[in-house]
Amino acid sequence: MPHYHNLICTQCYFERVPPARAQLGYKTCLTCGETDAKRVRHTIAPLNKSNYMLFTDPELLKQLNPKRTT
Ligand SMILES: [Zn+2]
Repeated sequence: MPHYHNLICTQCYFERVPPARAQLGYKTCLTCGETDAKRVRHTIAPLNKSNYMLFTDPELLKQLNPKRTT
C-alpha cells in the first residue's frame, strides 16, 4: 500500500489530499481538484465512458500518452 495518507496537494503544497481521493489517483486537494477538473474538461480522453472520471487528472493523461511532444 502506498502511503496515501501523507500526500500533500501537488498544486498548492498546503492542503493534504483526502485518502479516498488519493486512492483514485488524484494528487491535489479538493480545492485544486475542482480547478483542475474545470481546466482539463476539454482534454478528456475519448475512451470508455465508465472511466471518464479517471482521465480528469493531468498526470494520468500524461501516463496514458507516452508520445507527448514536449
Ligand atoms: Zn491544493
